[in-house]
Amino acid sequence: MAKLNPQQLAAVKTIDRPLLVLAGAGSGKTRVITEKIAYLVQQGTSARNIAAVTFTNKAAREMKERVARLLDDSQSKGLRVSTFHSLGLDILRKEHKTLGYKSAITLFDEQDKLSLLRSLINHGLKDCDIDAVESYNRQIGQWKNAFVTPEQALSNADHETLAAARLYVDFNRSLKAYNAVDFDDLILLPVLLFQQHPEILEKWQNRIRYLLVDEYQDTNITQYQLVRLLAGNLGRFTVVGDDDQSIYAWRGAQPENLSQLQKDYGRLQVIKLEQNYRSAGRILKVANQLIANNPHTFDKKLWSNLGFGEPLRVLSHKNDITEAKQIVSEIIHHKFRHGGSYADYAILYRGNHQSRLFERGLRENNVPYFISGSTSFFAYSEIKDILAYLRLFVNHEDDAAFLRIINTPRREIGPSTLETLGDYANQRHVSLFAACSEFGLQQRLAEKAVQRLQRFCHWVSDTAERIEREDTFAVIDEVIQQINYEQWLQENSKTPASAERKISNVYELIDWLKRIAGNEQGGEKSLAEIISKVLLMDILERNQEQEAGDQVSLMTLHASKGLEFPHVFLIGMEENLLPHQNSIETDNIEEERRLAYVGITRAQKSCTFSYCTHRKRYGEMTECEPSRFLNELPEGDLEWANKKQLDPEVVKERGKASLAHLKNMLA
Ligand code: ATP
Ligand code: MG
Repeated sequence: MAKLNPQQLAAVKTIDRPLLVLAGAGSGKTRVITEKIAYLVQQGTSARNIAAVTFTNKAAREMKERVARLLDDSQSKGLRVSTFHSLGLDILRKEHKTLGYKSAITLFDEQDKLSLLRSLINHGLKDCDIDAVESYNRQIGQWKNAFVTPEQALSNADHETLAAARLYVDFNRSLKAYNAVDFDDLILLPVLLFQQHPEILEKWQNRIRYLLVDEYQDTNITQYQLVRLLAGNLGRFTVVGDDDQSIYAWRGAQPENLSQLQKDYGRLQVIKLEQNYRSAGRILKVANQLIANNPHTFDKKLWSNLGFGEPLRVLSHKNDITEAKQIVSEIIHHKFRHGGSYADYAILYRGNHQSRLFERGLRENNVPYFISGSTSFFAYSEIKDILAYLRLFVNHEDDAAFLRIINTPRREIGPSTLETLGDYANQRHVSLFAACSEFGLQQRLAEKAVQRLQRFCHWVSDTAERIEREDTFAVIDEVIQQINYEQWLQENSKTPASAERKISNVYELIDWLKRIAGNEQGGEKSLAEIISKVLLMDILERNQEQEAGDQVSLMTLHASKGLEFPHVFLIGMEENLLPHQNSIETDNIEEERRLAYVGITRAQKSCTFSYCTHRKRYGEMTECEPSRFLNELPEGDLEWANKKQLDPEVVKERGKASLAHLKNMLA
């Protein structure tokens, strides 16, 4: 702790009252949290009674690593360092009975949610367009994040929101029947539980005696409720945040929660940190100047004494292919010239789709890389669908797989049928598949519904048998045809190109499974063995994230929050990409500016921007304009490559500005 500055030290030692640390990027907020955990333990608080929460798994892991350097294993035993959502899941798993859930709660992902919603709209009997489903999904998510229950949504609904509110009611009822929750429920349900059961809240308050929250500016209303409940009236908490890094408004984040704290906790102490320990002075200057274009509620200063550093480069490229090529080659050469490791480099972008060309470029050049927080192959909905079919073939009891595919593609088995089925299976403690053939269920359903369910189940068991007896992969190929999966993808994808990509992913999966089957020693493996191996691989792949070795990091700006890298490349600095087209259309430039600010402030030694003059979008070459944010940066601190492509007038002006800057420096 010797190295902490006086403000940091004060923040660490303030434990008798609620504390908010409000400070800019790289000022050591996360450091305060980790040091404070160690301090609390040294002061006699058991690690079991301390919980620290943050937003991404990666950030949680980083925090754990930092704590591990300060405390030994026995001291940190029982410490909770997790995301908000995994804390919520933990609470749900322990208290599922009170909430009326069975123990093995299924977690619905985006895709599961969309297909449930699709089946609920029009009772699953008519197709409904994807945009509408997505907009209902967004609205329901907004309600959940704003702590609005279905009943409240319904009673407050107006003409415009009535349909969504009704759907919200049905949606939640179905989830419950399936013993499932969605991501937002992981926070909402614990809050409801604690409000309705003070004795359970008290138990958790005793368990978590001190709560620390990183990236507090990104909490939404429901998360804030959870913090308030857990921290209790005494306010045994420390939250740290930076309003300039609030980038989750679209998920209901409320930077106002920062000022709300002051209202809710009269005894709140506020500490500001001003020294940045991360970035060279020029990087900081550029970031500060960018964010100065946003209105500010809180006054913050930020300085660094890590040297001023080189100007930030702006690279221009003919198109996105050359952008990727040039940056990959820059990284290779830079590393060669300066030594160091690949892990010193990060490529940051606005949208996941921007990573593809870079991935290819890095792979072609044998540069190890790691895409963080991206959709792994196994997270693609089409892969999950097909794997769910295979899972159900090998294990009819797999309820999650059953639910995933029962209406994918559509089989006209309506949501009310599934709800009855879910309720019945719950009562009887049998799987959904088994329940379908029980007389008791058949009595509760219309004959048509019974027939459809049985047809499906017979088909599943027949196919499973054929898979064992016949050529496994020939049968699987046949299944893809039988369910008309290609057509389903075409009907349910935004563009023909994305449908095609999904179809080729499906075939890639099947080829890959064949290879695994063929490679196995000791002859043919059964499908069950292959599938269990694949599922395990999926988990392993996720774990691999924990052991990032010497690899270039690729990630979205959102995923980069809280992290730092010696050399950062911020790619695709173009209008419609950053700021994103949707944000331009909805006049939400400030949030995009904060995103750019987050990106720049990840850099320690160098930050390079790049943009293309042309880029392939939705299969077509389109012209692009450099991002307006580039124009907001101090000209004298930038070095533009390929100036030729810029308007000569602009170049002249810029020349004057840098001359003036040079004179200033010499003066
Ligand atoms: P962000 O807003 O990006 O999340 P932060 O405020 O959480 O940033 P940290 O990640 O905690 O900042 O710290 C930034 C860097 O500065 C880290 O490498 C950290 O180890 C270092 N640092 C923090 N405090 C000090 C200090 N007092 N002395 C030296 N280095 C420090
Ligand atoms: Mg941090």
